[in-house]
Parts: sequence; C-alpha cells; structure tokens
Amino acid sequence: MSHKPIQTLLNANEEWAQSVMKDTPDFFARSATVQKPKILWIGCSDSRVPESVITASKPGDIFVHRNVANQFHLHDDSALSVLTFAVKEVGIEHVVLVGHTNCGGAMACIEAAKGVTTNSTASTPLTRWLRPLTALVRSLDLSACSASEALNKVVEANVIKQVNNICKSEPITTAWADSGAKRVTVHGWIYDLAEGRIRELVVRDAQAKL
Ligand SMILES: [Zn+2]
Repeated sequence: MSHKPIQTLLNANEEWAQSVMKDTPDFFARSATVQKPKILWIGCSDSRVPESVITASKPGDIFVHRNVANQFHLHDDSALSVLTFAVKEVGIEHVVLVGHTNCGGAMACIEAAKGVTTNSTASTPLTRWLRPLTALVRSLDLSACSASEALNKVVEANVIKQVNNICKSEPITTAWADSGAKRVTVHGWIYDLAEGRIRELVVRDAQAKL
C-alpha cells in the first residue's frame, strides 16, 4: 500500500494554508470563531461532486451532508440531525439536495430493481441503504427508455423524492409553519458530470407546502 496519496494531500494542505494566509492573513483566525453559512448541501458521496470545488466556495460557505446517492430518509438520524442543526442553530436559508448524472448508487438500484425480490436477496448495509431508491425505481415506467435515459430519469426522480422528504421533515415543516421564522427554501439540483454545470430542477418554499 502506498502512502503517497496521503502525503500528497498533506503537502497540498500546507501549500493551500500558506496561500490563504498570504492573501487573507486573518482568514483562519476569523473562521475559527464562528460559522455563518447560508447553504446546507445534501449531496452524493461521489468524489466527482465536491460541493466547495464545483461552486468555488470557501471554508465557512456551505454546511454539508453527503451519503451514497444523496438520500434524505425520514428515519435517518444522521441526515435529520444535520438538517435540524443547520436550520435551527446555524440559520441556513437554503437547502440544496444535489443529485448528479451517472450516479453509481442510482445505477445499482436500477440493477437491483431488475432482480427478483426474495428473502435470499443479499442484505448488506449498502443494499439496505438503497432500498427506498430501489423501490422508487420499481415505481417508474422505464420500459421505453434506453439505459442512459433510464438512469437520467431515476436521478431526477430521486432528487424530487428526496426534496419531498426534506419538505416533510420536522425542521422544515416547523420553519414553514412559523411566519416569524427565518425563511428557508429547498432546492433540487442535478450536477452534470460531463459538463461541470448545475441545473435547478425544483424549488420549494413556505408558499408551496406539501
Ligand atoms: Zn452518486
């Protein structure tokens, strides 16, 4: 096993920190005291969708939660605690749920949905995690779609489903029920890996309650 990738990261971090301090000497001193991001990003773990890089953001700009296939399950304490903290403590104003083209998690669910659902279907952390997305794939009519069309359709349906879940969650319904609370808007985005561009698919706010 090579430790070169690790040393490369550490070296790059040192160079980056030096260049930030050269441009903005008090950046880290200020950053260390408080965070006031306006955005919560919920995205896929995919290495090709690093939120801060693709939006040219700085430390402190984006509160982040990422998992396989950008899921927001209503029983997932990890995602729920991030959303709750972001809305109620950090004071974010926008939640962006970000899917992306060629998502490996979505591909896995398309394959899983073709299989026969029996008790012998292997249960692993990943298959359990992706079960709701696999069920969503089964609910779609993909019979007339090519493989790439089917994948795009699943990626879009997944974004809309997770946006709907976020809109049903307690922190958002509570914020939307209180006209005196800070406004929070929920966005569904798709990042095109081949183009490097983000497209907005859906926007929801307190006026468009489910
Ligand atoms: Zn993905």
